[in-house]
Amino acid sequence: MIRVMVCGAYGKMGREVLKAIHNDTQLSIVGAVDVKSDFADIGDLIGIGQTGIIVGNDLQTVINETKPQVMVDFTRPEVVMNNIRVAIQNGVCPVVGTTGLSETDVNEIRNSCTQTKVNALIAPNFAIGAILMMKLAQDAAKFFPHVEIIELHHDQKLDAPSGTALHTAELIAKTRGYLQQGHPEEVEKLPGARGGDFSGIRMHSVRLPGYVAHQEVIFGGLGQTLTIRHDSISRECFMPGVVLACKHVLTANGLVYGLEEILK
Ligand code: NAD
Repeated sequence: MIRVMVCGAYGKMGREVLKAIHNDTQLSIVGAVDVKSDFADIGDLIGIGQTGIIVGNDLQTVINETKPQVMVDFTRPEVVMNNIRVAIQNGVCPVVGTTGLSETDVNEIRNSCTQTKVNALIAPNFAIGAILMMKLAQDAAKFFPHVEIIELHHDQKLDAPSGTALHTAELIAKTRGYLQQGHPEEVEKLPGARGGDFSGIRMHSVRLPGYVAHQEVIFGGLGQTLTIRHDSISRECFMPGVVLACKHVLTANGLVYGLEEILK
């Protein structure tokens, strides 16, 4: 059994992860942490009755007491780097779903993995359908270089654009490079109306109650458009990817960035 702890256990994703690990025959939850903890039993959080595993409020203490091999982190953009540093310093492999990491952060994690020989896996999106959307978008960009991205999420999301939208743009930019899109003299009458700009790809973020996580990649060509759309209808969609990552990370080689790296 692989010993897993969950960081952000009280959160929307944290609770789903606890359930998914509990239901897997090769993974075992040994610990959980959340800054908001009032020391609940994880069994009460996910409706399986008392387990004796209590959610702590300090990561280092939980690691010391539960000796996990893997830490799954679904917390917040401003705290995730510290959690990753603590995990790696303690020889615990991080599996990170929290979005909002910068390129500098990812490079720091990569170097830290190389130096310590502790593996890590970061996936801006754990949904397999979203990975396919990104792959198809990267292929389509060879033939349709004009593209915009619209991502739609629930209104509690902290970062914009989403990690998935940024990763999609990175992959498209790898295929087609920088391209000035739209009319060169276009004017924004309302600042931001044309969205963010990643290598010429315009990106638009919608935040509304009711959404989970959705994205459209819209390509435009002569007399035609092509839309690739992915919808996460419930947070369960991320769990097969998280479970796979927990199993893969122990034998990976340093940092794995993107679930697509282990779905080849
Ligand atoms: P949430 O606000 O419901 O949960 C976050 C939890 O983290 C909260 O319970 C909070 O108390 C806890 N927390 C905050 N700081 C902490 C710390 N220092 N240590 C321990 N716990 C701490 O958020 P959510 O909807 O569960 O999303 C969490 C993150 O996961 C976000 O960054 C979101 O964008 C990302 N996300 C990623 C994917 C993916 O596939 N990679 C999918 C969905 C969400």
